[in-house]
Amino acid sequence: MENHHKRIREMLVAEHDCAGYGPDHICVKVVAFAEMPSRFGDFHVVAFSDTQDGKEHAAFVKGMPFNHEDVPVRLHSECLTGDAIGSLRCDCRDQLESALKMIGEMDEGIVLYLRQEGRGIGLTNKIRAYELQDTGLDTVEANEALGFRDDERDYSIAAHMLDSMQIKSVRLITNNPRKIDGLKTFGINVTDRIPLVIPPNPYNAFYLETKAVKSGHLIDSQGNKHLLEQTDRPIIEGMSDKQILDLNE
Ligand SMILES: [Zn+2]
Ligand SMILES: [Zn+2]
Repeated sequence: MENHHKRIREMLVAEHDCAGYGPDHICVKVVAFAEMPSRFGDFHVVAFSDTQDGKEHAAFVKGMPFNHEDVPVRLHSECLTGDAIGSLRCDCRDQLESALKMIGEMDEGIVLYLRQEGRGIGLTNKIRAYELQDTGLDTVEANEALGFRDDERDYSIAAHMLDSMQIKSVRLITNNPRKIDGLKTFGINVTDRIPLVIPPNPYNAFYLETKAVKSGHLIDSQGNKHLLEQTDRPIIEGMSDKQILDLNE
């Protein structure tokens, strides 16, 4: 086990000098890593720290993908209420579990867990957007509270994390082709796209009933509005071809 540990440590770029990624010169450093057996399989977790804002990001790594080509990778933005508590206001947990399950069954792969709660606006602003919805909802305000997000920031963090693990090229698990361009902008070689398909359940049924997709929210057949918390809508089994095409409108 000691040798295994040493081999991984040699692959991870920890202390280093770099100009930072992207317009904000994002630099993350590998702080620590450890074995992480989980209900989805045996992973390692790599802890990163952002040198500017101190935010802690994590990579959940299956197998030994370091220095490899075509590594399956999923980007997930933190959602405390969904991921940890099982909130039914969003389907972040379904998306995260589906990705972990998919990668857990592969020889190797990585989930990058980005600490960007509420699409980067933080927990309290996300709850504020929920409150706006609960109290009759000014859609515009709720969207503004939750809808804006500096995607570039996510991609620069993700790109740096992948480079720090010496990932040569990735197959991105996404239904959003724009994410591929986002990563490529920061020099990541994306060789393929793997769709994320998840089974239907009462909590993601609104995706199937959706009749409108506009500026970061969906309207289901009952007229209820759903704010999107991940920029990557899942494909639900049973979606029509048109619904799949409409995912990224
Ligand atoms: Zn750096
Ligand atoms: Zn969520």
